[in-house]
Amino acid sequence: MKEKLEELGECVVLANLETGWFAINPNTWKKRVERCKGLGRTGPNLIVYRTRSGEERDHHVVPYGVIAPLLLTDSLKQQKNGTYRWNLTLANDRLHVSHRQGYEPVEKYLASRLATEADDHGGASDIASELVNLRTRSFEGIVEGIAREAIVLSRTRSAALRREVLNLSGGICEGCGVNFSLLLHGRALRALQVHHKKQLALRETPEVTELADLAVVCANCHAIIHTDPKAAIPVEELRKEWKQARSSTVRSFDSDTQA
Ligand SMILES: [Zn+2]
Ligand SMILES: [Zn+2]
Repeated sequence: MKEKLEELGECVVLANLETGWFAINPNTWKKRVERCKGLGRTGPNLIVYRTRSGEERDHHVVPYGVIAPLLLTDSLKQQKNGTYRWNLTLANDRLHVSHRQGYEPVEKYLASRLATEADDHGGASDIASELVNLRTRSFEGIVEGIAREAIVLSRTRSAALRREVLNLSGGICEGCGVNFSLLLHGRALRALQVHHKKQLALRETPEVTELADLAVVCANCHAIIHTDPKAAIPVEELRKEWKQARSSTVRSFDSDTQA
């Protein structure tokens, strides 16, 4: 598959499953650009696979127009052996080039059609449904992972800290800020879960040593935090996302009740 894509001028890389790290050699990139020119194409797309992800369509096809402006000479990093390369990460559907500010949201390129795949049969709708499948399949994994996290946190050593952090939360989700103690005379508090902040991948769960390791979040926020089972989103980042989403929300539930 890799050879076939490269024959068509694409730049294919394997990203680290846990960290999303990968490197691009400027000489390889140049070769791909030239290959594309020879084929009458504008330039190579960057295709990022993840090592042993176990998902057939777990690849991002980042268009040339998006990746090319990120690969600048000033973001090249010199290696110990004197050669240069670009260090990049693709995690939580965000593409970042080291020595450069910010990131590029690349979620829409997940599971996109590959140059080797004909677009006459199959077509965009099939790809879209496969994308949904990929997301739902990993969502099931997330739910399983969260259940496992809860089991680990209920072990004797962690259980006391877990109870304490729930008491201290006042029933408020640290992600979305909703106060669940105000709903159903407190019965909605069961929507709150305890998240282990030091746990990067959903599969591993390190020992809880202090309260600061834990965060109280609602079931929805918890699932969002583990969107990528291999790299949890920091709670603070989700809080910012909520803030931004709320400030741009036009529809308010208040107007529903007035009708
Ligand atoms: Zn929440
Ligand atoms: Zn968690």
